Amino acid sequence: MSRLDSFIRRLTAQRDILNHISATMLDGQEGAVLEIGLGNGRTYSHLREHFPGRRIIAFDRAIGSHASSTPEPQDLVIGEIRETAQAYLGTGAALVHADIGTGYPDKDAVTLTWLPQLAAGSLRPGGIAISGLPLEHPDLEPQPLPATVREGRYFIYRKR
Ligand code: SAM
Repeated sequence: MSRLDSFIRRLTAQRDILNHISATMLDGQEGAVLEIGLGNGRTYSHLREHFPGRRIIAFDRAIGSHASSTPEPQDLVIGEIRETAQAYLGTGAALVHADIGTGYPDKDAVTLTWLPQLAAGSLRPGGIAISGLPLEHPDLEPQPLPATVREGRYFIYRKR
């Protein structure tokens, strides 16, 4: 598959999963949304549309987002996520969305030494993690994907 096709499928999977989560899976869950990897801010923009009124805290090592999708300073955490997100452990987030895969297996392997613990540790019980990288952690139970998303393209978990 070309990288263009792969990119389109990743974005489609993100949109379908974010729609699926917001329609069915966060009912009654309090807590913030953590956007791990703000990037251009496209998924941040989608989250904001779907979760009006909920605090969304975005993380990145630098601001690269479109001006219309840049969080207010109090909701923007700049620096290496492995370090900056430690402050959010135990804060009872409702949703963690992590889009920090690179497509380079060696780099993603390093990310996976800390990302699962970080996602599990910042969620409240019953909270949801969605990720482009698989998050293997005893507290994160894999959830079915929407029918439009191929197995292994994106991942959904609920914290036990
Ligand atoms: N979902 C975003 C969107 O819709 O625009 C795109 C996210 S982009 C693929 C990933 C972002 O995560 C990049 O902006 C990169 O700088 C950031 N990132 C990746 N790993 C990081 C790390 N360890 N610490 C801080 N930022 C990181």
